[in-house]
Amino acid sequence: MGFMENKNTLDNIVALCKRRGIIYPNSEIYGGLGGFYDYGPVGVEMLNNLKRYWWKNMVDKRENIVGIDGTIITHPKVWKASGHVENFGDEVVECKGCHQRFRPEDIEDKCPNCGKKEFTEPRSYNLLFQTEVGVIEGSKVKAYLRGEACQNIYLNFKNVVDSTRQQIPFGIAQIGKAFRNEVTPGRFTFRSREFEQWDLQFFVHPDDMGKYFEYWKEERMKFYKELYRKHENLRFYQHPKDKLAFYAKDAYDIEYLTPWGWAENEGIHWRCDYDLTQHMKFSGTDLTYTDPITNEKYIPNIVETSGGVGRTFLYLLLDAYEEEDLGEGNIRTVLKIHKDIAAYRAAIFPLVGNKEEIVNKAREVFNLLSDSYKVVWDGRGNIGKRYRYQDEIGTPYCITIDYETLENGTVTVRDRDTMKQERVKIEDLDEIIG
Ligand code: ATP
Repeated sequence: MGFMENKNTLDNIVALCKRRGIIYPNSEIYGGLGGFYDYGPVGVEMLNNLKRYWWKNMVDKRENIVGIDGTIITHPKVWKASGHVENFGDEVVECKGCHQRFRPEDIEDKCPNCGKKEFTEPRSYNLLFQTEVGVIEGSKVKAYLRGEACQNIYLNFKNVVDSTRQQIPFGIAQIGKAFRNEVTPGRFTFRSREFEQWDLQFFVHPDDMGKYFEYWKEERMKFYKELYRKHENLRFYQHPKDKLAFYAKDAYDIEYLTPWGWAENEGIHWRCDYDLTQHMKFSGTDLTYTDPITNEKYIPNIVETSGGVGRTFLYLLLDAYEEEDLGEGNIRTVLKIHKDIAAYRAAIFPLVGNKEEIVNKAREVFNLLSDSYKVVWDGRGNIGKRYRYQDEIGTPYCITIDYETLENGTVTVRDRDTMKQERVKIEDLDEIIG
């Protein structure tokens, strides 16, 4: 069995996603809308699994982290306090030939669209999407779709301190949508205009920042190493000190090696007390923290970990996608994706779809397993074709119920990665696929 080097991995993944209901371009029947994507029946299961996986790791398994779920539209002053209204921008240049706009870093010396070498001077372009709150003309208030999800966490810091048993050091986690009117959306979901982020803001005493910054760097790298197969495609990138925001003391990105080079997966930021100080200033509300034991009053410092859910999803597909040459022109496409993220843990195949006893027995297996796992039914076509379909969406196990099952209660379990088949008792299935 040979592995084929593929130069068009991203194109093949885009095609696979469409073909198998993982991701569709949004509004496709109208010609699509750049930077917007919908998750299909298989993709939504994977996406939910991915978010659950993060939540389990970041919230459920930790005594000092709680979650929130905040709104997409907030008071417009939030975005003034955060600095997004002033300077949440990209530099944009316009090609003098075809008038397409680009970020200066996306062009080399000529226009990627028409080849002309003349551009306008760069100008700044705000990425926030605007909307209005209220219905009566004249009393509508200009508002913004959140440009990053984390602001809701700062807004609720005091609420969480007052309403839970948490004491510093503790964290607030959230998964939610963010919106950026990106100049150059592209590379599938890598740079979208609507996307989800998973954020942790960990609040600490200023003296403890160094310790917790290191801790979260390591924890987050460990998380991605458990998720991806190819660890050589992960690295830290430290932001140069002269490129840091004025309030930040240090920042690292966890980067993934994509077909277009190293690219950000998640940022880990040493944010000092900037966020809470800004919101204190703009809202007039006191957000200082009083230590319940020492009575010391201070503005907490923050370690932030902020990653993209859709971007991680795309990197997972890149990490898992393989085309295997099985010989004699027989190519198998397979997603060797983490079994906790796969849409279905197992597929249930009645060997023949029109034999009542076999179908009934297969239903029994389906009902037995679906209490604990998401499983999928397929009773159509030959078994080889059914295996290929499940390989393409990354289902770790296929379970076939046949005539022998009716005689002795055993089924065939076929493993996605090794393609090996094993005959096992129905009562042992839970342990095998668990
Ligand atoms: P980039 O430099 O790639 O534009 P960023 O530094 O602006 O990203 P952050 O503001 O730190 O990104 O956002 C945190 C995470 O959100 C990123 O690491 C990335 O995974 C994700 N993200 C940011 N912008 C987008 C986008 N347009 N589409 C999809 N995911 C995004």
